[in-house]
Amino acid sequence: MTLVLDEIRKREKGLKIINNKIQTEGITSLIDLTGLAGGFDITPEDVSLLETYAGPAVFEEKIQKLGTEHLGGEKVLPLNRTTSGIVATIITYVKAGTKIVHYLAEQPGHPSIPRTAKLVGADYVEYTKIEDFEVTDDTSLVVITGTTMDYEAITTDDFKYVINKAKEKDVLVFVDDASGARIRRAVYEQPRAIDLGADLSITSTDKLMEGPRGGLMAGKSEVIDEIKLTVNQYGLEAQAPLIVGMIKGLEKYSPDRIKQAYIQKDQLIQKFNDNNLNPLDTPTGFMFKEEQVKEIIEKKIGSFEIPSDIVATVYSMLLLEKYNIITIPAVGMPGASKTIRIDWSSKDSEKLSMDEIVAAIIDTFEQTANVCKNSNNIEQVLYK
Ligand SMILES: *Cc1c(COP(=O)(O)O)cnc(C)c1O
Repeated sequence: MTLVLDEIRKREKGLKIINNKIQTEGITSLIDLTGLAGGFDITPEDVSLLETYAGPAVFEEKIQKLGTEHLGGEKVLPLNRTTSGIVATIITYVKAGTKIVHYLAEQPGHPSIPRTAKLVGADYVEYTKIEDFEVTDDTSLVVITGTTMDYEAITTDDFKYVINKAKEKDVLVFVDDASGARIRRAVYEQPRAIDLGADLSITSTDKLMEGPRGGLMAGKSEVIDEIKLTVNQYGLEAQAPLIVGMIKGLEKYSPDRIKQAYIQKDQLIQKFNDNNLNPLDTPTGFMFKEEQVKEIIEKKIGSFEIPSDIVATVYSMLLLEKYNIITIPAVGMPGASKTIRIDWSSKDSEKLSMDEIVAAIIDTFEQTANVCKNSNNIEQVLYK
């Protein structure tokens, strides 16, 4: 019998470990290296505004100013999550029997895109090779992912090429720039998606910036207003408390930390290479994909049947349990990537030296190998 990962239960377990650590060792004992640390730095003054009807009016003006500076465009729309914006855009513009084409550096795209395509009865195609990319007559929406969930970026040339192809057929271009709005800009010095000609772009306000989890979409006023209607009808908008958090995150944002991690990561990767480990590099750190986690462990204990998504989730859970280090597989939403990714631009990276993180990563491979020797251990580590 092959084991299947229970995504709901593993997340509950991950959050339970975190809660226990907060209760016993305090919140500062946690080391969040996901690059999604979030932030909710609101003041008593903000809270008193939130308690009045005037609050939303004040926050609306601020988010418009900061949001259009960050993303470009004429108007922004704050949303409960990036997923909410993806869902609303597809519901608004994609009819049954038409097609969504998606260009991205590497598969897969965010699962909310194919899921919503299915919901509205549309076809969905992903392209990762620019030579293959095409916009057909039945295409109703072109999606571009600026940087994938694993931070793989596309080039500015490919960006422009895809946008041109869409414009030739008069098709709307929507950019999923969840992390890209900062990675692409800070590391690769690329323009904002809207300035490259996209109609719409959306970013996650907790990714590589100190804001709460939420989505912020930008574009021309008339397009944003059409989507806003859907957003209100389906209850996908950000509420005022979330908007205040986004404002604080945008006010605080600086690309410096990201730029610094980009410079330091080579040194970090060299330390792994010296220990015969070869993580892949990301713009702001390093990662082990789920297949690679399994391969490294199979080198230690021989081949085994446990699927790689489970192995990587076990790894993430053990790294959290023993070293207080948070990575996405242990706590991510169902369908989130199972890559063990360390984002060295995370604020919490200050809590560790490079040698400490390297030692923790290496030891956790040993711990995971021990667990994988007997598949009966999996249940305990992941769910109990
Ligand atoms: C994180 C992410 C999303 C979704 O963000 P949520 O806050 O989980 O809704 C969508 N697309 C990409 C590329 C992402 O990295």
